[in-house]
Amino acid sequence: MDRPAIAAPSTRKAAQHAVLMDRLSLLKVFVNNPKKFFPAAMGGGEWHTGGVVAVLAVVEAVRVIGGGIAGAEAAWQCAHAGVPVVLSEMRPVRNSPAHHTDHLGELVCSNSFGAMATDRAPGLLKEELRRLGSLVIAVADTHAVPAGGALAVDRAVYTRDLTERVANHPLIALRREEVTAIPEAGIVIFATGPLTSEPLAGSLQALTGLEYLSFFDAASPIVEGESLDTDKVFLASRYDRGEAAYYNCPMDEAQYRAFWEALVAAEQAELKEFEHEERKYFEACLPVEELARRGFETLRYGPLKPVGLTDPRTGRWPFACVQLRQEDKAGRLWNLVGFQTNLKWGEQKRVFQMIPGLESAEFVRLGVMHRNTFLCSPHLLAPTLQFHAHPRLFACGQITGTEGYTAAVAGGWLAGINAARMAQGREPLVLPPETMAGALVGYVSHGDPKTFQPMPPNFALLPEITPRIRHKQQRYWAYRDRALAAIDTFGRTHGLGAALALARAN
Ligand SMILES: Cc1cc2nc3c(=O)[nH]c(=O)nc-3n(C[C@H](O)[C@H](O)[C@H](O)COP(=O)(O)OP(=O)(O)OC[C@H]3O[C@@H](n4cnc5c(N)ncnc54)[C@H](O)[C@@H]3O)c2cc1C
Repeated sequence: MDRPAIAAPSTRKAAQHAVLMDRLSLLKVFVNNPKKFFPAAMGGGEWHTGGVVAVLAVVEAVRVIGGGIAGAEAAWQCAHAGVPVVLSEMRPVRNSPAHHTDHLGELVCSNSFGAMATDRAPGLLKEELRRLGSLVIAVADTHAVPAGGALAVDRAVYTRDLTERVANHPLIALRREEVTAIPEAGIVIFATGPLTSEPLAGSLQALTGLEYLSFFDAASPIVEGESLDTDKVFLASRYDRGEAAYYNCPMDEAQYRAFWEALVAAEQAELKEFEHEERKYFEACLPVEELARRGFETLRYGPLKPVGLTDPRTGRWPFACVQLRQEDKAGRLWNLVGFQTNLKWGEQKRVFQMIPGLESAEFVRLGVMHRNTFLCSPHLLAPTLQFHAHPRLFACGQITGTEGYTAAVAGGWLAGINAARMAQGREPLVLPPETMAGALVGYVSHGDPKTFQPMPPNFALLPEITPRIRHKQQRYWAYRDRALAAIDTFGRTHGLGAALALARAN
């Protein structure tokens, strides 16, 4: 669908009006607080005067919709590159069911950005973002609290500081408003997250096509293929039809009984109030523990059906069998078929590692059943985070199908930089694929659209190192060294590393 036909009837006049309104917002900031534009005269950094120049030179403003983690990063990067930004955040005019404040970049649940160590995927991603000058990571580092190897923050101070830095940026006009339709003109970044408000989600659905926007995520855990015990699992398809496409984890009766008993007794995650109301959407897709509670045999007639799966070690069908389906083209990620679940994360690991062959499984993603608005990005987005069909539209954050706070920062960083480059008439950038940030964006833009599910940072997304390093820890170090070298080269080539000093000093 063409962009002008999406919202209200499009006219050249309406588009011009929207651009004028954006510029008016920026001019209001200037009139109300000229100090924001002249900190050089007041003893601040000289680059702030770029604000006046940009407004007076009528540089095209970028519209960022959503002031969460991704949107705050995107708006700041764009403005920092010298391009005026109008940032629309609906809170507190309209609240989301999960946020509690009107601050930008609020952490909706945990106060942790995940592991710090750079030989873990989330830690590597944070280090890359630090080197690229991410504002959110710089603010998080400033307000870190002890968390045993993770980057956790004092959430109130972190989010207040982040809000002030973004709202006080001379080139950012912050509007507290719900955007209900896709703006008809201009460069736009969508950063409205997993709880995008309904009118805008409807508009996005009209833009992309019904089947390319999901509202719920009922996903099974994903494990790294190399962490499976191949002495216990076997590759086969049911009745040997077609190629041997599944890893099968055979169980005898005693193993099945122990697994079933653990599953029915396992602790469930507490649902938020709004999630209780949304249970009805999952009626056709029950959590694996709910199926188990219906009776001892139920799973054996459902996801653990053993028929047609001959175990080569016994020559017989097992008593029950868990199947793992390939998740990525390279065959490094495997999905436990039919294991969507509401169990607590620790419980998932404990119970699912009882499955023969999964005793040492590395979980790159755990099962979820929750509201999550996300695009079928492999079909829609380029690795620059532009929509293929609408290159002046960008998307970032959880709505693109990345998962977690740090991944949202990465998307926000790239969308902000690229939107600014577009406004300046420069080519957008693609991150190096061997970096964690580049691999994540690569997954959302090039994954399999048929099975696309949100994904957190993990090493199985990175291109293999050849020759393959067998020792896991050494392989992770090699991934890290290669990624950081690539990010440094990338930053130097595009003059981006210097942003770090400013993010910290500002
Ligand atoms: C209940 C819940 C718990 C979570 N817990 C965690 C966790 O513990 N750890 C973790 O890493 N991840 C967690 N997540 C995932 C989390 O949402 C992301 O990691 C992160 O918040 C994504 O950032 P984002 O910027 O894409 O979205 P958000 O942070 O949600 O930001 C989107 C922003 O857009 C605004 N917005 C929405 N619609 C509009 C509109 N039409 N107009 C204007 N503004 C709009 C929203 O108010 C919000 O501020 C959780 C998600 C949910 C729903």
